Amino acid sequence: MNIHEYQAKDIFRRCGIPVPPGEVATTPEDAERIARTFGTRVVVKAQVHAGGRGKAGGVMLANTPADARTMAQQIFGLQIKGLTVTKVLVTPAADIASEAYAGVIVDRASKRAVFMVSPAGGIDIEEVAATMPEKILRLPVDPRYGLLPFEASRMGFFLYTDAKHARAAAKILRQLWQAFLSSGASLAEINPLVVTTGDDVLALDAKMVIDDNELERRPEIAALRDESAENASEVAARKASLTFIKLDGNVGCVVNGAGLAMATMDLVKYYGGEPANFLDIGGSSNPEKVVHALRIITRDRNVKAILFNIFGGITRTDDVANGIVAATREHPLSVPIVIRLTGTNEEIAVQILQQNGFTALIDMDEAVQKAVRLATGGKAA
Ligand code: GDP
Ligand code: MN
Repeated sequence: MNIHEYQAKDIFRRCGIPVPPGEVATTPEDAERIARTFGTRVVVKAQVHAGGRGKAGGVMLANTPADARTMAQQIFGLQIKGLTVTKVLVTPAADIASEAYAGVIVDRASKRAVFMVSPAGGIDIEEVAATMPEKILRLPVDPRYGLLPFEASRMGFFLYTDAKHARAAAKILRQLWQAFLSSGASLAEINPLVVTTGDDVLALDAKMVIDDNELERRPEIAALRDESAENASEVAARKASLTFIKLDGNVGCVVNGAGLAMATMDLVKYYGGEPANFLDIGGSSNPEKVVHALRIITRDRNVKAILFNIFGGITRTDDVANGIVAATREHPLSVPIVIRLTGTNEEIAVQILQQNGFTALIDMDEAVQKAVRLATGGKAA
C-alpha cells in the first residue's frame, strides 16, 4: 500500500526524524491560509502516490501566501503519472546547501532489509545507480540485530565528511529504521535528505510503501489508506477479495490461483500476446466473484479479448460458468471471450455455457492461442 508524503512524514516525526512542519490543503484558499500561518516562504507539494513530482511541476516554491494560492491552483490542475491531485502539502521552505539520498527497502536477492545511501540526492536513485554506482553505499541489515550504531555511523560518514552532519545523519538513519520496522514498510525513503544553510540535517521528502500483509495487524497504518488516490480497478478488486494487478497489454485474464495465473500470463506472452492484467479469483469461487472480475476487466479499454482459465479443484467450474452467464446477462460483452475450464463439475459447466451461447475449451494452449489471436486481430499466434 502506498501512503502520501504527509502521512509518511507523520510517521517519521513520531520516530524523531527532523522534518519541517506542514499542513494539507484541499483548496487554493486553504493553501494561502496555511502559508500565512507559517509566515515564511513555503513549498506547495502535490500529494499523489508517485515519485518525480518535482519534474512534473508538482512541487513549487512560493514567496508569499498569495503565491501559494496561485501555485496550489496550478498544482490542483495537474495529472501526475495519470493521477489527479486533490491534496497539496504546504510546508515552510528550507534553504538547501546539499541534497543526499537515504532509503531502506526489502531486498529479495539478499533476503534482508537493505539500506542505500548516496551523497548524490535529489535525483532518482536508479539514475545514480546507472551512472555513478560508486556513489551508493548498500548495507544489508541482519534481522537478528537490526541496524547497529556503527553501521549507521559508517553510512553517515559515507554521506558527509563533516562529522557533525555525519552524526546527525547516522541518528536519522537509526530513526528511519524504526519508522520502517514499526510500520511494516517494504520501503522507506528520504530524497532529498538535506543539509540546510543553517547547518541542520533535515528530511525534506518522505516516501513509504507498506507491505499489504502487515496491514491486518497494524490498524493504525491500514487507516492511512487513501482510496481516492488509488487505481479504481484495484480498489474494486480488493473489495471483491480478488487479487488484481493492472498491466499494459490487451488480453484480459481471469484465472483461479496465483500459480495458474502466472503460467497463463507466461503462455500469453509465449504466443505473442500481452496480458492486460493479473487476476486471481481465488481458490473457492462463487458466481458473484466472477461477476466482479468481469466488470473490472471490461472497464479497461485496452482489453481486446478476455481469457478465462479455470482449473476446478476446490473451485467449482459450474460456479464460474454461472458467474460468466450472470455477468454477461447484466452487461453484454463488447469484446470476444475465450473460456477454458477443466476439473470439478466441468460437464455441468460446459452445459451451462453452451445453453447460453458460449463455447468452452479444455486445452490451455488452444485457449491461450485463440485469445491472443482475437486480441491481436490475427497478427500473433
Ligand atoms: P519529488 O520530486 O516527488 O521527489 O519531490 P521532492 O519533495 O523530493 O521535491 C523535489 C525537489 O524540490 C527537491 O529535490 C528539492 O530540490 C526541491 N525542494 C523540495 N522542498 C524544498 C524546500 O523546502 N526548499 C527548496 N529550496 N527546495 C525544495
Ligand atoms: Mn523526492
